[in-house]
Amino acid sequence: MAGTVVALFAHPDDEALLTGGTLAMLAAQGHRIVFVVATDGALGLASEELRSGDLAATRLAELEASARALGAAEVISLGHSDSGHGAELWGDPPGRRRFVTVPVDEVAAQVADIVRHEGAEVLISCDARGGYGHRDHIHVHQVGRRVRELTGVRLLEATAPREPLLRALRLVGRVRRFRNGFDPSEWEHAFTPRREITHRISIGRHLRDKQSAMRAHFSQTTGGESSGGRTLASVLRLPPVLSRLVLGREFFQEVGVDATPLRTAVFEVAR
Ligand SMILES: [Zn+2]
Repeated sequence: MAGTVVALFAHPDDEALLTGGTLAMLAAQGHRIVFVVATDGALGLASEELRSGDLAATRLAELEASARALGAAEVISLGHSDSGHGAELWGDPPGRRRFVTVPVDEVAAQVADIVRHEGAEVLISCDARGGYGHRDHIHVHQVGRRVRELTGVRLLEATAPREPLLRALRLVGRVRRFRNGFDPSEWEHAFTPRREITHRISIGRHLRDKQSAMRAHFSQTTGGESSGGRTLASVLRLPPVLSRLVLGREFFQEVGVDATPLRTAVFEVAR
């Protein structure tokens, strides 16, 4: 029996790297996938040329293309403005609010309406650390928790196992210097300890769909230099064997569920 999954993200492109394969697999199994994106992503890194145009419109169009690649049925934009990453929080643009300043209850009420309207069984959001720690990701996490309280929907938080990530970063750090003085120890509290992960999904042939979704976010592979911001560009350049290793599995922590046994599917196969 097919179900409905609402996937809530902070920015256009958040759907691709951590959840793209799982969403494509669920869509291929006949489940209805609805994307809800909280912000316009207009503070994402991009080349000067793209920044001088309407980057918000570009990024929404890229998200629509990614949704097609993954088989999502619909994209709903909540239309808040990107709060940006880093120490400085920019003021609100005219007539709009930075997502992080919009109260959790207000956003949660909006998302809860979508979950109820869709009759969704599963909501996907973001882990407590906001992945690598973006303030908008943390806000999405808090919204997801509130929506679960309001609706009783199953909540799966997209994440990655912290320990192997840290090991890999430290290994890379030994052979080359990170740009902008990035220190792997900044990621000591990023993502989720492996023992708390409830789902490890092998995405198999949907790796191709995920890569198509990642490529759809062309603006995020241009311009800018930062510690975490060029992830899409560098991951897309990996040789095939490494690419499957890095991108071929996706991880979730389902709220209110024991981490053992580790699950390998979002929905039970026999329903
Ligand atoms: Zn993001």
